[in-house]
Amino acid sequence: MLCGAVFASLNKESYFCSMKFPIIAYGDSVLRKKAVDIPKDYPELDVLIANMFETMYGAHGVGLAAPQIGLSIRLFVIDATSFAEDEPALKDFKKVFINAQIIEETGEKWVFNEGCLSIPEIREDISRQDTVKISYYDEKWNHHEEIFNGLAARVIQHEYDHIEGKLFTDKLSPLRKTMLKNRLDSISKGLVKVEYKMKFPSVKKGRR
Ligand SMILES: [Zn+2]
Repeated sequence: MLCGAVFASLNKESYFCSMKFPIIAYGDSVLRKKAVDIPKDYPELDVLIANMFETMYGAHGVGLAAPQIGLSIRLFVIDATSFAEDEPALKDFKKVFINAQIIEETGEKWVFNEGCLSIPEIREDISRQDTVKISYYDEKWNHHEEIFNGLAARVIQHEYDHIEGKLFTDKLSPLRKTMLKNRLDSISKGLVKVEYKMKFPSVKKGRR
């Protein structure tokens, strides 16, 4: 938190403090909370957003939600421009979603192989509807009500689940969940090799 202290003592306009947060691993209760809206005067929101992007890029992710850095607030960031080769519409898809509410999900269900920075080394085929209508504010507090489909909708749905306290593994069949249980337990215990900084839930004595 040296960063914050230094930041406070300097002129905000002339100083940019860049830092990466540790990413909260599967098993931490913050990933299971329904996150709350934030007010327009939320402190240092611009710095938080910049650091979330920094954290996401550092882990080679395309999306990151605030609960994944331990903040149970309705904020997520997405940069899906790396998908532009498959879906040209995503060429400029770098967005911030504040206080988002999905209004409706429509269209055919389709399967996509999803991963999550909080659940390293596990990728699973997940079925979701194609189209999403969502209300949100951007980083300048402009309100949007927009419709997304395909991969854009997919990334939004995944990140939106995080602010609802849900994870993609919730959508797996009971059999698949059972098969993954040991690997998920290992992640919670920190028994996983990850290239980026993570925070693992502490293992309570006498409990498994
Ligand atoms: Zn995720």
